[in-house]
Amino acid sequence: MSFPRLTFPLTADFGSDGYWINDDGPFQYGAAVTEFFCGNDLADNVGDSLLLMRRLEELLQAFGGHLHPYAQEQSVSRGPFSWLEEMAVESSVRFVSRPADGGGNTMAERWTVSCLRDFLYLELGKAIEHGNAPRQCRLCGHWFLHEQGDKTVYCNRIAPGETEKTCREVGARAVFENKIRAEETWKLYKRAYKKYYARVMKGNMSREEFNAWVEHAAAQRDFTIELLKAAKSEEERARHIEALREDLNRL
Ligand SMILES: [Zn+2]
Repeated sequence: MSFPRLTFPLTADFGSDGYWINDDGPFQYGAAVTEFFCGNDLADNVGDSLLLMRRLEELLQAFGGHLHPYAQEQSVSRGPFSWLEEMAVESSVRFVSRPADGGGNTMAERWTVSCLRDFLYLELGKAIEHGNAPRQCRLCGHWFLHEQGDKTVYCNRIAPGETEKTCREVGARAVFENKIRAEETWKLYKRAYKKYYARVMKGNMSREEFNAWVEHAAAQRDFTIELLKAAKSEEERARHIEALREDLNRL
């Protein structure tokens, strides 16, 4: 559902799982802030939207920490802890009735807010309470709404350089391939380990030499696993594996 253009003063009905703006909705908590982070103008006369964006991001980092690792992994500035209380939202609140899923009615809080800033603060606060948070896609870098319980770190847009596959599909594939590749590094290590251990048994290699090799080989194996995680392509991964194979067998 695309987000409606907002006019202020605005009336929003906050329910237990989502909210309504006039007759539009229900929207998920965090949907408006995510749209705003994506650079979409939600209303006229926003003012300094970059400053507002930065403030909201700080708020997310400071108070969305329990959403880790789904919130931004950055150090938290102390700012939000002190200015949060000064950010009083001018509003009136009352309860209203809204149709519930599956019939009947549900109680919702009707907030009336005067500007976009107040609305986004409220909406992000509610999102954090509900375990939702805007997050940046690990692949394309665009913002998407991460919902509570969802494990993905990739969005649903078409991935960079792809025509049909989404970041989520490409990302899942990369995670899978990395796992296979990580197993390959362990196989290489174990095979080389057996080879050199056999030399020790036959008296063709000293214990000291072997122990030094094991230490070096284990470090190289772990280092390669880290390199594989950061690799951008299959060719790059294959290169790292090949380099490890040579390194582990050069004695
Ligand atoms: Zn993406």
